[in-house]
Amino acid sequence: MNLMQQLIALNIAKVRDRIRNAEEKYHRKPNTVALMAVSKTRSADEVRQAIAAGITDIGENYLQEALDKQLHLTDIDVYWHFIGPIQSNKTRAIAEHFDWVHSVDRLKIALRLNDQRPSGMPPLNVCLQVNTSDENSKAGVSLEQLASLAEQVDSLPHIQLRGLMSIPQASDQADEQQAAFAVLHHAFNKLQKTCNDLDTLSMGMSADMEAAIAEGSTVVRIGTDIFGPR
Ligand SMILES: *Cc1c(COP(=O)(O)O)cnc(C)c1O
Repeated sequence: MNLMQQLIALNIAKVRDRIRNAEEKYHRKPNTVALMAVSKTRSADEVRQAIAAGITDIGENYLQEALDKQLHLTDIDVYWHFIGPIQSNKTRAIAEHFDWVHSVDRLKIALRLNDQRPSGMPPLNVCLQVNTSDENSKAGVSLEQLASLAEQVDSLPHIQLRGLMSIPQASDQADEQQAAFAVLHHAFNKLQKTCNDLDTLSMGMSADMEAAIAEGSTVVRIGTDIFGPR
């Protein structure tokens, strides 16, 4: 193994330890929190090293960058997650080249993804991105509009609504981090009563994954602590 490979493998082992410790500390069942490696700005080679170290899920924010990397990794079987902002003119390529989308926050985008998902591929797995701290960012559906959007997306045949995602305002206080995730956790529990088969709470990044696991995260999205600072 070369140095980069060793470092990525070591970092992944450390993140897996943190996940295991947090599951135990917060009384989560073992192995109920999945790890997605977020590889924006990273090379196809680095993604390959992460996969060699056991990563099965890759998150990308920028479409063109992701498509370029995918071309170099066609020999590898891995789940691709789109987690960045979505413009209408990008939906076709996203529908064709990804297994999951975590950042759907309006009906127009969901309708396009549904229409453009190629027949013969399984339904596109979708999480709705929720804005849990209204003033700070425009991305994400509001809590008020979530139930209505979820009901409409849940009825689309080529989309499988899997759950919710959020990117809370950054904080270095664990209690503040956890309070923000608790809002999404609560919304998720409520939605589970009306939408079938919701099983995914996509929350937690390098700096706040423990707080997210405390609040029920089922998949953490980790970039910096796997690949280093961007
Ligand atoms: C960049 C990014 C991440 C990873 O963030 P790190 O702090 O580097 O772990 C996770 N989710 C989304 C949506 C991102 O854009």
